Amino acid sequence: MRTSDSDTSLRIAVQKGGRLTEKTLKLLDGIGLKFDDYKRSLVVKCLNFDVELLLIRDDDIPEYVEDGVCDLGFVGANVVAEDDADVTILRGLNYGVCRLSLAGKKEDKLRRAEDFAGKRIATSYPGITGRFFRDRGIGVEIITLSGSVEIAPRLEIADAISDLVSTGGTLRANGLEEVVSIFESETQLIQTKKPLSSGKKELTERILQRIDGYQLAARSRYIMMNAPAESVPEIKEIIPSLKSPTVMPLADNGMVAIHTVVPLSTFWDVMEKLKEAGATGIVMLPIESMIA
Ligand code: ATP
Ligand code: ZN
Repeated sequence: MRTSDSDTSLRIAVQKGGRLTEKTLKLLDGIGLKFDDYKRSLVVKCLNFDVELLLIRDDDIPEYVEDGVCDLGFVGANVVAEDDADVTILRGLNYGVCRLSLAGKKEDKLRRAEDFAGKRIATSYPGITGRFFRDRGIGVEIITLSGSVEIAPRLEIADAISDLVSTGGTLRANGLEEVVSIFESETQLIQTKKPLSSGKKELTERILQRIDGYQLAARSRYIMMNAPAESVPEIKEIIPSLKSPTVMPLADNGMVAIHTVVPLSTFWDVMEKLKEAGATGIVMLPIESMIA
C-alpha cells in the first residue's frame, strides 16, 4: 500500500456522511482550514494549507491511519478500541459522545453485568464486548451483527445487546433497558505511528495548537460587567481568570467596567457571586477561539 509520506499533503481521514462528519468539518473550519465543497468527492483539497481530507467509512479510519495511508484521522474512540488499532491518540474531542452499553428486555429485569451470564448478546462491537466479559470471567455468547442490533432481541436472534447509546431513546423505543455502560466514547484525533516528514510534523503541531485553542474557547465565556471601583479587589478574588481582568473607568464616578474570561463550568457560580459583590449589567459572550 502506498503511504501518504510519499505525497506532500498531510492526509486526514474523516467519516463520510455519518454522525461525525458535520462536526469534524465544523471543527476544521473553526480552526481556519478552508475546503471546497466536500459533498461530491472522496478527496478534498484544503485551500489554504497543505492538507487533504479523505472521506471514508468510519470503520476504515483506524486501519488507514495505522497503515499510514492517512497521517491523521477523526474517529470515535469506540472504533479505535474495537479495532485495537496501533495508532497514537493525540486528542479526545468533546463531540460524538456516546457509550457502549449492555441492554436487555425490560421484562428480563437485568441489573448487573453478571445477569448476562449464559446469554446471547448481539453487538457490532464484539471486540470491546468480548473483552469486557472475559475480563470479568462471565461466559456469554457474542453474536456479531453489522447493524440494527436493537431489534435482535425482538427477532429472538439474541437475548440482549451491547450497543452505542447517547440518549437511550432508541433502546426505549425497542422495549430495551440500559443496564451498564461498558465503554465511554468520544471522537478522537489519531495519528499514524509511521514516520512523518518534518513538514507534516510541523503542520500537525499547528493543527493541534489550533484545536486546543478552539476547545479552550468552547469551554470559556467572555464576561463584561460594571461595578463600583471599591468592589474590584473582591471581584478579582471571585473570578478564576486566565489572566488578570481588564478594568476600565466609566464616565459614572466611582464605577468601572470589568472584562474577563471565565471557564464555562464555573460561570453560574461566578455570576451569582459577582452580583452579590455589586456587579451589574453582566454580559456573557461566546468566544470563537483563543490562545491561552
Ligand atoms: P459508516 O457508514 O461510516 O460506517 P456508521 O453507521 O458506522 O457509519 P454512525 O452511526 O455515523 O456510524 O456513527 C459514527 C460514530 O458516531 C460512532 O462510531 C460513535 O463514535 C458516534 N456516536 C455518537 N452517538 C452515537 C449513537 N447514539 N449511536 C451510534 N453512534 C454514535
Ligand atoms: Zn461504521
